[in-house]
Amino acid sequence: MTVANPNFVEEVKKSNEFNASACMNCGVCSAVCPMGIELLPRKLFRYVLLGFKDKVLENKETIYSCLLCRMCEANCPAKVHIAENVRLLRYYLNKNVFRV
Ligand code: SF4
Ligand code: SF4
Repeated sequence: MTVANPNFVEEVKKSNEFNASACMNCGVCSAVCPMGIELLPRKLFRYVLLGFKDKVLENKETIYSCLLCRMCEANCPAKVHIAENVRLLRYYLNKNVFRV
C-alpha cells in the first residue's frame, strides 16, 4: 500500500526549486522522449507532489535513465522544468538513499 509522506516534497524542494505543479498531464513529454520514458515526468513528478516517496524510490532506475536532453522540456506547454526536476530528484536520492 502506498503511504503519503507529507514531508517528502519539502525534502526534495530543500535542495532547490522543484517545479511540477503546472503539469497538465498532456503526455507530450513522454511522446517526444528519445528514451521512451513514459513515467517521467508526469507520473513521477505527481508522486513527488503527492508525497508518495515509496513510489519514487521504486522507480529509482528511471530517474537515472533520463539523458537530461530537454526534448520534453522544449515541448512542454506548461513550461515545467523537467530536466532540472530530474536533477533535483537525483540529488535527493544520492544524498538520502545512496548516501554519496
Ligand atoms: S509535457 Fe509538460 S504539461 Fe505535458 S505531461 Fe509533460 S510535464 Fe506535464
Ligand atoms: S530530458 Fe529525460 S525525460 Fe526528457 S526527453 Fe530527455 S531523456 Fe526523456
